[in-house]
Order: sequence, then structure tokens, then C-alpha cells
Amino acid sequence: MSERTAASVVNSELRSALTNLVGEKGCLFDPQDTAAYCEDWRQLYQGQTPAVVRPASAAEVASIVRICAERRIAIVPQGGNTGMMGGATPSAEGSQIVLSLSRMNKIRELDVVDLTMTLDAGVALKTAQEAAAAENCTLPLSMGSEGTAQIGGVISTNAGGNNTVRYGNAREMVLGLEVVLPDGRIWNGLRRLRKDNTGYCLRQLFVGAEGTLGIVTAAVLKLVPRPHDVALAFCSVPSAQAALDLFVLCRRYHPGSIQAFEYMCGEIVDLVFKHFPDTRSPLSQRADHYVLVELADASPDAGLREKLEDVLGKAMDSGVVLDAALAGSSAERLALWQLRENFSEAQKREAAIIKNDVSVPVSKTPAFIAQATQACARKFPDIRIMAYGHLGDGNIHFHLFPAVGAGNAEFLKLDHAIMDTVNEVVRRFDGSFSAEHGVGQLKAYMMEKWRGGVELDTMRRIKTALDTMGIMNPGKVLP
Ligand SMILES: Cc1cc2nc3c(=O)[nH]c(=O)nc-3n(C[C@H](O)[C@H](O)[C@H](O)COP(=O)(O)OP(=O)(O)OC[C@H]3O[C@@H](n4cnc5c(N)ncnc54)[C@H](O)[C@@H]3O)c2cc1C
Repeated sequence: MSERTAASVVNSELRSALTNLVGEKGCLFDPQDTAAYCEDWRQLYQGQTPAVVRPASAAEVASIVRICAERRIAIVPQGGNTGMMGGATPSAEGSQIVLSLSRMNKIRELDVVDLTMTLDAGVALKTAQEAAAAENCTLPLSMGSEGTAQIGGVISTNAGGNNTVRYGNAREMVLGLEVVLPDGRIWNGLRRLRKDNTGYCLRQLFVGAEGTLGIVTAAVLKLVPRPHDVALAFCSVPSAQAALDLFVLCRRYHPGSIQAFEYMCGEIVDLVFKHFPDTRSPLSQRADHYVLVELADASPDAGLREKLEDVLGKAMDSGVVLDAALAGSSAERLALWQLRENFSEAQKREAAIIKNDVSVPVSKTPAFIAQATQACARKFPDIRIMAYGHLGDGNIHFHLFPAVGAGNAEFLKLDHAIMDTVNEVVRRFDGSFSAEHGVGQLKAYMMEKWRGGVELDTMRRIKTALDTMGIMNPGKVLP
């Protein structure tokens, strides 16, 4: 699309077309009202938009897309705006319309026999979890942003989170989708079948597409029976290697029960205590490495607490665990998870961050952390390095901060140099430069180097086939 200003994009004719369609409360034109939709959660990107449109149904989304397609106006779909890659932020030149799904927030159906939930894209993840829990089911997707992130955003980023080790990413939970295509047609693929081999699996194209192929308006998600026995432990361990050893030990004794296995370095936990002073460590001594391990079972008589105590006892005997505290009540369990879930906010309060959400084979996580730390410390001697992540699925968040007291702006200029240094180590292990946060605009420049050739060419052909005019979230994912 050519560079066009906000004023030239939304003329009065377009304004009235959009307002007639979705009503006054469905449109925001005033820059004061649209500002919150133009900045990403990390405050890395400051965009501009001539309009934020908030439809209330798939039919309204389709009409907006047709209106935009006729005028070749680009659309940026936006859910909860918690994405880490700037994917939901419009460009700075001000010609892209933001389409917010937030008014589409109904749970359409929950079936306890099929173990499925059919819901609008704008339902917050936490609302969906609560609705499932009310019917004795679980939607096993959990992450720090769940109060704000929406189902459409979670699907469009193929989000992972804490339970991937057992249930997989969002992709594994999507049985059906309803999508508005870039030409304004609605594809109703809201089937809730466990088996359906009828040609190409279209729904998986839209999972993780970050709004570049169409707008997800509803989904059918798989649920699982609600666990009635849960055991959670917070442990200190002597090293990242010991954290991996503990994972292997837990898996050997309780392969079907691990539902979360999180590694965290001591410094990141210190940050939570610093920025959330009410948070308390359940352990008497600070450590350089910690693990949060959770077992769960649908049966109330699974005896998981005893089983976890037993495996931790074995781990202590062999020096793999230094100390451990088990949650004794659901309040203690929530407090321990809160500690983990406050990581992102604590980092934001501390300083600017250069985040590397990367993945390597599970067996290589300690070696990756050691080598990436060494490479960064050598090239950027003053920075602070903190690593944590979903170790059970090989996803490490390898984050860098400026030295205490150093300026954020100067530090952020190092972003490509630092990310490229970390990624050189990721490549040694045949890992991925983006594990669960996607590509957005921040990492689009990496696609040529990592996925160039047949893979990127095929992605571009799919994009062109569906989005002939290039109006769906341009500038994101594909360089
Ligand atoms: C505190 C915190 C913790 C987090 N923890 C995790 C974590 O553990 N695991 C993880 O994977 N992520 C995590 N994230 C990142 C983020 O929450 C996820 O990426 C989430 O899936 C984004 O959902 P959203 O609704 O906010 O999407 P948005 O940020 O609004 O959008 C993300 C992308 O999806 C597109 N999009 C949004 N809705 C639609 C739609 N309906 N149709 C088509 N495209 C759409 C947007 O255009 C954009 O490209 C965290 C973020 C925060 C702030």
C-alpha cells in the first residue's frame, strides 16, 4: 500500500460507512480514544490509526473487510493487545485501520460430552477458563496475560504458556474456526469433530498467522476434564542442568501427570520480590536456580502430593534438588503461580528489556543457557542476563537488561545485535528464534535468514492467494 495519511484514508464518506455499520459506539476516530490501540504492551511501537472499528458480529466484521477491500485500506486485527512482537500495532504512518474484536465476547456453547467450547474471538482467555471450570472442565491454556489476552489473539499467535508440556500450544486445542477472509467472505469451519480428513486442514493455516491471512471471529476449542488432584512444588536447584535432571526424573515416575515445569534463574525471582513487595518466597534461602513443577490428575484419589514428595525426596538424595516447598492449599498454589506470572510485569517495571523467546530441544536447554550467557557476556559486558521459561517444552525466555542505572534508550539500540548474538547460539542447537510469541513486526527481519528459500516462498504464495490486495496486517510476519 502506498503511504497515506490518516486524514486521506478516513474521509467523511468512509466514516459514515463504518459508523452506519457498527454504530457510534463501535467506532473510535478521536486520537485520544484510539491511542491505547496504537501502542503495544511492551511500548516498543507507537503507531497511528485513522479509526478503531469494534464490530459486534462476524457479519459486521465481513462488511468492514469488504468496505476496506474496496478502498484498499489495510486492517490490523487486535485482540487483548498483549502480544510481545508488535503484531497488533498499526504502522506509524497512520493509514491502517485497527479492527478490535473486544465486543465479540460471547461463549456460544459448551458441551460437556464432546468436551468442546464454541466461543467468539473476543472472549478473554480467563473468562473462557472460568466458564469451562464452572462445567467441571478445563481449557488447558494458561499464561500471565490470560486476564486480557483474547481467544482470537491466542489462536492467531498460537500461544503456548505453562501447560504446553502436557497439552501442546493453542494449535492443539483448535477443532474448528470461523474466519472472515480478506475478500470479506465468511468461512464457517466451526466443526467440533475429533476426526475430519477432508482435504487441506484450513483452520491450521490461520492458527499462528498473526492476522495476516484473515480475521478469526470464533473458535471451537477442545476441553479436558477438570483435574481434582493437583500438587505444586517450588524448588531450588543447584543449576539449570539439575532443573533438567529433575524434569527427567518427574517424567520417569509420573509421565502422564506433569502439567507444568518451569525453570527460573534467581535474578528473575529477585525482580518479583523487588517490584511486588508483598510476594514472599516459600523457601528460607535464596538460590540461583528454581523450578516450579505441577502434577495434575482428573481423579481426586491420585495421591499426587505424596507422589511429588517422593520424587523430590529422591531428587534431594541425589543432589538434584536443594530445597522444596509444596503448596498446601489452593491459596498457596495461587500465590506460587502468581510469583511466576508476575515475571513479565516485574521486568517491565525494572527497565527496558531485549527479549528472546526461543526454543531448543529440551535436552539442550542447560547448554543453550550456558552458551548464550557466555556469548552475550563477552560481547556486551555491562548488561544483565536473566533466563527462565517453560523448560518442559524447551522454551527459554533469555532476556537482557541494561546495567543498573544505565539508560534504556541507549540499551535498546542494541536490540538487533543482541538478538542476533542469542540466535547464533539458538542455531547451533537447531532451535527456533521464536518459540511462542510469534514474529509480528519485531522479528519479521529474521524470516529471510531463518525461513528463506522454499519455506518463505511457500508462505508468500499462501499469503498472496488469500490476501490478493495485501490488506491483512501488512508488515507483519512476512518481510
Ligand atoms: C504478562 C504477559 C505474559 C505472557 N505470557 C505468555 C505465555 O506464557 N505464552 C505465550 O505464548 N504468550 C504470552 N504472552 C504474549 C501474549 O499474551 C500472547 O501472544 C497472546 O496470545 C496474545 O493475545 P491478544 O489477544 O492480546 O493478541 P493481540 O496482542 O491483540 O494480537 C496478537 C496478534 O494476533 C493478531 N490477532 C489478534 N486477534 C486476532 C483475530 N481475532 N484474528 C486474527 N488475528 C488476530 C494481531 O493482529 C497480532 O498480530 C504474554 C504476554 C504478557 C503481556
